[in-house]
Amino acid sequence: MPRKVNCSFCGDEIAPGTGLIFVRKDGVAFNFCTRKCEKNMLSLGRKSRKVRWTEEYKKEKTLRTKK
Ligand SMILES: [Zn+2]
Repeated sequence: MPRKVNCSFCGDEIAPGTGLIFVRKDGVAFNFCTRKCEKNMLSLGRKSRKVRWTEEYKKEKTLRTKK
């Protein structure tokens, strides 16, 4: 049975049968919804907190504006 997973980078839900999984040498697995997310995290080394179109960024923003 397919499990619902969220993208490790943008936080979006990945529909079963789509997206890609990347497993690092040390065994940590990342789920990505698109190559865009994979590229941003792995090749560009960006932090999801600092990229505007991710869920993580939105969370940070709401926390920041609440204070
Ligand atoms: Zn994503």
